[in-house]
Amino acid sequence: MANRIPRVPVREQDPKVRATNFEEVCYGYDGDEAVAEAGRCLNCRNPRCVGACPVHVSIPEFIAKVAGGDFAGAAATIARDSSLPSVCGRVCPQESQCEGSCVLGIKQEPVAIGKLERFVGDWAIAHAGEAPAEKPARNGKRVAVVGSGPAGLACASDLAKAGYEVKIFEALHKVGGVLVYGIPEFRLPKEAIVAKEVEAVKRLGVEIETDVVIGRTMTVDDLLDHEGYDAVFVGSGAGLPRFMGIEGENLNGVFSANEFLTRANLMHAFDDKSDTPIIAGRKAVVVGGGNVAMDAVRTAKRLGAEAVIMYRRSEAELPARVEEVHHAKEEGVEFRMLTNPVRILADEAGWVKGLECVEMELGEPDESGRRSPRVKEGSEFTVDCDVVIMALGTSPNPLIKSTTKGLDTNRRGCIVADETGRTSREGVFAGGDAVTGAATVILAMGAGRKAARAIDEYLSAK
Ligand SMILES: Cc1cc2nc3c(=O)[nH]c(=O)nc-3n(C[C@H](O)[C@H](O)[C@H](O)COP(=O)(O)OP(=O)(O)OC[C@H]3O[C@@H](n4cnc5c(N)ncnc54)[C@H](O)[C@@H]3O)c2cc1C
Ligand code: SF4
Repeated sequence: MANRIPRVPVREQDPKVRATNFEEVCYGYDGDEAVAEAGRCLNCRNPRCVGACPVHVSIPEFIAKVAGGDFAGAAATIARDSSLPSVCGRVCPQESQCEGSCVLGIKQEPVAIGKLERFVGDWAIAHAGEAPAEKPARNGKRVAVVGSGPAGLACASDLAKAGYEVKIFEALHKVGGVLVYGIPEFRLPKEAIVAKEVEAVKRLGVEIETDVVIGRTMTVDDLLDHEGYDAVFVGSGAGLPRFMGIEGENLNGVFSANEFLTRANLMHAFDDKSDTPIIAGRKAVVVGGGNVAMDAVRTAKRLGAEAVIMYRRSEAELPARVEEVHHAKEEGVEFRMLTNPVRILADEAGWVKGLECVEMELGEPDESGRRSPRVKEGSEFTVDCDVVIMALGTSPNPLIKSTTKGLDTNRRGCIVADETGRTSREGVFAGGDAVTGAATVILAMGAGRKAARAIDEYLSAK
């Protein structure tokens, strides 16, 4: 019976080898493996996997097409709901979404939905050819998109398909948002995957201008009042790092994870030919337990440091994807759970020489539903290290809010927008991390697509 077939294992780089390079960890399925794994799906009449996918990809439908060898059909099915399948197949937290709800998972391993999506996305990239996509007739209306992350790219694609003239303004010199500056190459190849997905967006006719900081080079008001745009979508993400506010955070050798990862990913600081320096030290402690923390610690490991995760709750509460935690452990990262730093210690030259820490224990669940950590009295101890990387979460940069008339934000600095992405300012829509705070690629992409529909309705009614 189909449901007794074990999950097809996925090939990966050897942990000892990959801990010293930046090449992709997971090789993904080939065609035969994908067909075999797709054959495990029960094609449920009420597929729980679809309900658990934030953008409701027609999972059994695309999997059935893979099982039948119709990879082009599978790609077309996914494309109805997702514009970044190769990315999402690699980075979505499938264990808490589609795969976490797969009925097979009750008694055995769920269908490898993420790996199948990745296979289909990569197949589509390999077979895209260079032919320009069919561009729909232009309707004469112009939309500006601020930011080229998943939210901006998804919004721009859908608007271009609907006939709008769309231009993305991106502050950095590369396109892709966190996909290029945050998530490392060993998890998400930049040239082979992200650049190809961006090319597909450009083939729809979307124009992209880099090195333009909206709020500095020009403002949202300028775009609407002087540059001839009929609407603006703000997908500027949440790139402002948080710190703990403890003594020693200004010492040499303390980084935010965002800065550390940007140096490595965007500026290729790990490459001898790069002008950008990076220091992972002899021993790097990364404070935090999310995907950002895992990416930073695995990058530090690859740069030759003894690498440690320090997290104030227990392993059960780690917010990172299960696969990333598993890979980090395989690569030799040390996990110090139920531990919190209270002071960063300096040497005579003003560099980090260690961390004063306390042990934690878990109390009652807090408003997030997770058990809240509290300090164990008298548990102070020191950890020796020369680099500290803070991965404690991020919030939106206040620049857009401070330079746009009538744009409301909440107390966390996030732009206030309704379900469809409408903000308090007429003609301005927003979505992704800029609205929710740091979240996920699929949610940002979904928000960008919803806003595209709302912009279309708004401009059609105008
Ligand atoms: C290190 C790291 C690892 C992650 N791992 C995962 C993961 O495994 N799975 C997952 O689902 N999610 C992960 N995430 C979260 C995910 O990447 C984000 O939720 C998602 O990228 C948000 O998309 P976005 O389009 O809203 O913003 P972003 O991707 O942040 O893109 C915003 C873009 O706007 C640009 N911008 C900002 N301000 C301006 C301005 N004023 N003018 C012009 N441009 C501007 C920025 O330069 C950026 O390019 C990770 C995040 C990080 C940082
Ligand atoms: S829940 Fe699992 S078995 Fe059922 S359709 Fe979805 S992937 Fe297939």
